[in-house]
Amino acid sequence: MKKWMFGLILAILACIIFPTHNAVAEEPLPIRSITKEVNLLADDYATIITTIPENATVIMYEKSNGWAKIGFMQYTGFVKLNVLKSIKPEPMLASSKNPPYVRETNNFHAKPLGNVYVDSIVQVYATDEQGWSFVQYGNLTGYVIATALKTPKTKTMVVKEPKGLSVKLTASTSSSEIAVLQDKTKVEVYTLLQGWAYIVAGDIQGYVVASKLQNTTIPKIGKFNYGVVTKTKRVALTFDDGPHPTITHQILKTLEKYDAKATFFVTGHRVEKSPDVLKDVFEAGHEIGNHTYNHPKLTDLPMKQVKSQIEQTNKLVKSIIGEEPTLFRPPYGSFDKEIQASLSVPLIMWSVDTLDWKHREPAKTLDAVQNYSKNGSIILMHDVHQTTADALDQVLAYLTKQGYEFVTVSEILN
Ligand code: ZN
Repeated sequence: MKKWMFGLILAILACIIFPTHNAVAEEPLPIRSITKEVNLLADDYATIITTIPENATVIMYEKSNGWAKIGFMQYTGFVKLNVLKSIKPEPMLASSKNPPYVRETNNFHAKPLGNVYVDSIVQVYATDEQGWSFVQYGNLTGYVIATALKTPKTKTMVVKEPKGLSVKLTASTSSSEIAVLQDKTKVEVYTLLQGWAYIVAGDIQGYVVASKLQNTTIPKIGKFNYGVVTKTKRVALTFDDGPHPTITHQILKTLEKYDAKATFFVTGHRVEKSPDVLKDVFEAGHEIGNHTYNHPKLTDLPMKQVKSQIEQTNKLVKSIIGEEPTLFRPPYGSFDKEIQASLSVPLIMWSVDTLDWKHREPAKTLDAVQNYSKNGSIILMHDVHQTTADALDQVLAYLTKQGYEFVTVSEILN
């Protein structure tokens, strides 16, 4: 046999024997739920060891000929394979001041298998009626008292590591590698723990070095209806179609009263008529967005005119405030992929439509805000209707009482 052939065979064998990290990560966890009450049997498949209640969580060790060898609390035995079903775990945060133990059974006197670090993440498969959660924690599986666990608040971040970022089973450099995340991968961060971040990215979950993650920035192109949900409640108020010589000023005064920042999507033809109003809006610290030159339905226009509607307004705004609008909102929310792709700033829609232009009633504008606003909402109003300016004081009073902060659209997207 030629030497190169021998090498090739070795290489093929190596691929078969040593699976890739991906193959390991994709292998389903051997934790299952019991679909109905069943007897756990000894290896004669007849002697009853104990009875397992419906919905109990078990570890599956082996399966053959329709039988599964499983672990349930301190027992090991056999059940029919068809009483088992897969369950997906939920990451939960260990929050108790006294770190809980992972125990062998759902009982405070049960054998402790290991302790859980405060602020670390455990995978919860199920919680029983006695208030014990069946968890996986690193290499441990067992029961943790559910009151020591809470739902974590997550934050989206991006991998910043050109060589790829190693995901570990536990928060330790010596821990085994589950997967490698490519540079620029978006991850959900569940907790930070002594320089480590517990992340979820698609099917991959585990610990990465926290310093290799960075905050997301607003992508250049995108369609945004909602802002990021943060610990403090925030909404972004947006005012379209202005500026208006008197109404916009009334709105500015009300915003100032509540120390609120907002975003104004201006039209070029009104900017030409009221350049000083635009200047006042900008100098008060509000964000300026582009809302075309004279408010056409862009999907009815050839691309050349679409671009001219946007560019004309960009130039006008820049000639007055010294910079171009940082956002774009299409009139009537009407756009297509080609229009979106032609933009150099984010395309912003809305999540709460007050319909202020339609009903022209302050009470109905307030109603819409009360009924639909939540953390991260982008609220649509128009600073060309007197009734909107008249509604704003009550709107801001209500949202302030509910604990909301008022931020610009660019802020709410971060
Ligand atoms: Zn409009």
